[in-house]
Amino acid sequence: MRACALPHLAGTLGLWRVSERRLASIRRRKLQRLLRHAYENVAFYRSLWERARVRPEEVDGPEDLVRLPVVSKEDLLSCRLEERLAQGIDPSACWSSSSSGTTGHPLTVYTLPADRTRMNLGWFRAYLANGLRVSETMAAFVGRRQVRTSQRWYERLGLFRRVEIPAWWSVEEWTAQLELLRPAAITGYVMTLRLLAEHLRDHPHHRVHPRLVFHTSALLDEASRRLFEEQLKCRVVDLYGSEEAGCIAWECPRCPGYHVNADLVVVEILRNGVPARTGEAGEVVVTNLHSYAMPIIRYRQNDVASLAATPPRCGWQFPLLERIEGRVEDFLVLRDGRRLPPHPFYHCIDPVPGVQRWRIVQDRPGEMTLEIVAEEEQSDAVRRAVLAGLAQLTGGAMDIALHLVPEIPIDPRTKFRTIRSAVGALAPAEEWGATAKGGK
Ligand SMILES: [Zn+2]
Repeated sequence: MRACALPHLAGTLGLWRVSERRLASIRRRKLQRLLRHAYENVAFYRSLWERARVRPEEVDGPEDLVRLPVVSKEDLLSCRLEERLAQGIDPSACWSSSSSGTTGHPLTVYTLPADRTRMNLGWFRAYLANGLRVSETMAAFVGRRQVRTSQRWYERLGLFRRVEIPAWWSVEEWTAQLELLRPAAITGYVMTLRLLAEHLRDHPHHRVHPRLVFHTSALLDEASRRLFEEQLKCRVVDLYGSEEAGCIAWECPRCPGYHVNADLVVVEILRNGVPARTGEAGEVVVTNLHSYAMPIIRYRQNDVASLAATPPRCGWQFPLLERIEGRVEDFLVLRDGRRLPPHPFYHCIDPVPGVQRWRIVQDRPGEMTLEIVAEEEQSDAVRRAVLAGLAQLTGGAMDIALHLVPEIPIDPRTKFRTIRSAVGALAPAEEWGATAKGGK
């Protein structure tokens, strides 16, 4: 694996220099191969496409993908694991991650190590394109309590060193760790970075001076971006990705918008099921061209974006997305007023076996209601595991009313939010701008 990974690394990282024609041919070849594989080896896709009376040979390139049905997370969850995994795949030999994202439904995604390397290159490309050097260290906030301490093979070669910091720690511990590491870049979620930036604002003698901040997941609102730029005194780069598709698109330092990693994913913007016009907002549907263990084909991301009308001006051939409207999240507020970022809650609840859907609602500091739809035979185990995880996370400073419910009603008029807090919502951008200018 390692021997063949080096040319992959060079090839994928260098791909932005290929011509438009060459990129189109790479995409077509990868897509045809993935579709053939899914039809021959994945029961879910074979039966879905047979019901739709379409065969993979009818899809010559990304423009023909509209012939295949769109797939939602709920569709994938409605079949057994072995039906959505390719034949012969051993899940224990795969890299796995769970995410409930915007829907509250946790889905575990399995990825072959070789595909994982390719998907990681999509992130590295975004870092390099924005000025991070391969020899520099990045500090990454993660939702997991247990961080990765081993080094990947390329890290042992001194490349792309990434040190993880648990979002579970206090902001004082984050700051101490960052002062020790002195990373060139910090990557994290908006709420974690927000807590960090506010802490640094109140402690102006800190020694946290990255050159770059990369934001991933959820929506980066303008007020938060300004706060990070002002307090960390560096450029803030927004990245758009998901567990299912890896790094989908990244902000370009020279173009207005986000370059799609078009050799790794196919992004479609749909409006009422058909491709949206350039500049017109529509639903994001992705195909992960490196998803051989559990293919992700025409998968609904539950985000809204639009294709940019202007071609890239930086010389790279990847098309541009103009605007991405991701998920909006809230802090959860403890009894003592301390705010916790939302990501550790996902990591507490998503991986618990038997959890089918969940939602947290908070109306008052120190209290929250958690609703869980669980598999019936596992409901006691779910309750125990979730409460134990949350007790550790909140340190007992939150009263948790856990209700096992048969379903969580969805209001089709508003976007579903897994975590909603009336006391932990961010102030609207204008309000924050006024406060910031007021010299708070
Ligand atoms: Zn560009």
